[in-house]
Amino acid sequence: MKREGMLVIISGPSGSGKGTVVKELVQKENFALSVSATTRTPRTGEIEGVHYYFYDKETFEKMKNQNELLEWAEFCGNYYGTPKKYVEQKMAEGKNVILEIEVQGALQIKKLYSDCILVFLVPPDIKELEKRLTQRGTEDKQTINRRMNRAIEEMEFVPQYDYIVINDTVEAAAEAICAIVKAESMKSSRNINIKQNFI
Ligand code: 5GP
Repeated sequence: MKREGMLVIISGPSGSGKGTVVKELVQKENFALSVSATTRTPRTGEIEGVHYYFYDKETFEKMKNQNELLEWAEFCGNYYGTPKKYVEQKMAEGKNVILEIEVQGALQIKKLYSDCILVFLVPPDIKELEKRLTQRGTEDKQTINRRMNRAIEEMEFVPQYDYIVINDTVEAAAEAICAIVKAESMKSSRNINIKQNFI
């Protein structure tokens, strides 16, 4: 009997390396990666429909009002949201879906899907976080400071997550998340239909 895919949510401060870890996860395992909608300006190298769907505020608001988003949040002055259709479709196909979203959105999803898996990815410490944000060179100093402050605020949400993964190396972090997902797939609550094999 085919079962619904699991919903895995990866959050963590900007500069925690979420994007790189998620990329590794998608390559390693057969996860479906949800592409978010945003009103943020594309960074150099970002591709429409691959990294994000880039919309103006009006279009984003229309999507929101037409109930096309599973969740949405404002983060450092821009809107971000998860298109509903893709996630629902992939889960129905039995695929595990990954969302890389910030904390407010993650908690909205938890209310809708109580069995989703919330993973918080953190860099080893704040110095490393600042180093990673500065080194990636995609933001100006003011934006970096704003994101650093938001990172400190986001740490308050850690107790509401199911798992904390420290991102020392991308490979180890991705491996840890795969192990979490594997263990979650074996939870008795996700396998109640096993009884049918013994009738
Ligand atoms: P960035 O501008 O660095 O790409 O993303 C800023 C923050 O928004 C990150 O924490 C990222 O995970 C989060 N984010 C990306 N897409 C979504 C989304 O669809 N919903 C929510 N709530 N957050 C998102």
